[in-house]
Amino acid sequence: MKLPLDCDVAIIGGGIIGLSIAVSLQQTGKTVIVIDRFDKLINASRNNAGAFAFADILPLATPQIIRSASKWLLDPAGPLYIHPAYIFSIFPWMVRFWRASWQDKFQKLLQAQASLMALSRDALERQVMELKAEPLLRRNGQLRIYQHKENFDRSAMFWNACSQHNVRYTLLNSAEEIAEIQPGLNSNYEHAGFTPDWINVTDPNHWVQHIKDIFIARGGKWVDKKVDRIFPSQNDVLIKMQEHKVSASFCVVAAGAWSSKLASKIGDKIPLDTERGYNVTLPNSDFDLKTHLTFAEHGFVVSTINQAIRVGGAVEFAGLTRPPNFNRADALLKKAENFMPGLLNGSGYDRWMGFRPSLPDSLPVIDYSSFSKRVLYAFGHGHLGLTQAAGTAELVRDLMLGQNPAINLSAFSVKRF
Ligand SMILES: Cc1cc2nc3c(=O)[nH]c(=O)nc-3n(C[C@H](O)[C@H](O)[C@H](O)COP(=O)(O)OP(=O)(O)OC[C@H]3O[C@@H](n4cnc5c(N)ncnc54)[C@H](O)[C@@H]3O)c2cc1C
Repeated sequence: MKLPLDCDVAIIGGGIIGLSIAVSLQQTGKTVIVIDRFDKLINASRNNAGAFAFADILPLATPQIIRSASKWLLDPAGPLYIHPAYIFSIFPWMVRFWRASWQDKFQKLLQAQASLMALSRDALERQVMELKAEPLLRRNGQLRIYQHKENFDRSAMFWNACSQHNVRYTLLNSAEEIAEIQPGLNSNYEHAGFTPDWINVTDPNHWVQHIKDIFIARGGKWVDKKVDRIFPSQNDVLIKMQEHKVSASFCVVAAGAWSSKLASKIGDKIPLDTERGYNVTLPNSDFDLKTHLTFAEHGFVVSTINQAIRVGGAVEFAGLTRPPNFNRADALLKKAENFMPGLLNGSGYDRWMGFRPSLPDSLPVIDYSSFSKRVLYAFGHGHLGLTQAAGTAELVRDLMLGQNPAINLSAFSVKRF
């Protein structure tokens, strides 16, 4: 006898990607269950820098980054670190990353990234209207600041890509022009670009919680468990947890940096790894932050989270199980203080480490499993999960409904590796 299904769709992962997909599917009348082992502390979506970084269309693997990486690796307080015990594990990922920086590949990846960004920009506005979420946004733009003139000159590649893909910006060439947008910075800064359409959330934790609350209010079910395995068959998918199971017509794997473990049990080998990142949040800082700041040469950003200031960034390759090394967060803070005098006035701060789910070509996987059309993948958004969540949700919805997706998805295919 055929047993009734528990739901139309089971989504594994209740981060920003899984929840955005969940509410988007609810709009089409599907019954949805989200399964998450729920640990607020490790959830990257609730603790990130809170930026819809629509200007960041360049894939990470550029020839410039490859050159800077070797310099950064020699600096113990630098923005890039590989744990010695992890060098062997990360080596194949690094080779792919390097290959992604070659001109032929790079141009294709840039086109794909720009198309997902453009869709995500529009999709976010639709999502904000639908979820009545405007009060949770800040529309104050981004100031991208350069300490050294030669680095500003090298950033022409970034600004040219912005021009080609309709990202508005203004270049600034004096400390006075910069101070008009962000007063109080160290006056050594004379070069910057301002991107007015950059948006931030007031707090990524509130943003995710808002979407979760709406999901539940619309009849969605949240299962607080760890998924061990997925068993797709001809007519349904069985999702197995410890002492519990759920059956659904479709399953979406949106489990962030842990997704490839589940995919590999079905047979899809995907070179997902994690770029660990750090944040320091200062609840009482005196610095009057007017906009989102990006210190591109130094690999960190500064944003307002509620009434606090958050300094975040760094990339650490050390896998999913090693404990954080908060010296990296302290190094970020020290650097930021040099550029933002007064940042540390006021007492106390919190430090956090999270797991970016990263693929070596900087694009996520948005596709069916190679082994079952009943399993869809939506993971690997790296530095841009918040930014691309609304766009990803629309694409997954289209795939599930058998409609033509709004952009060409070949660059996001599971078979590209
Ligand atoms: C320091 C830092 C700053 C960042 N700043 C930004 C930013 O400003 N803008 C931006 O766009 N992006 C930013 N990011 C990246 C962004 O946070 C991630 O890309 C995004 O959160 C990924 O979302 P996700 O839903 O895929 O994964 P996650 O948020 O990690 O969610 C995955 C969920 O899956 C669950 N899960 C995993 N395995 C299982 C399992 N087996 N069973 C059940 N549940 C499971 C986990 O519990 C988790 O809740 C930043 C990241 C870091 C680390």
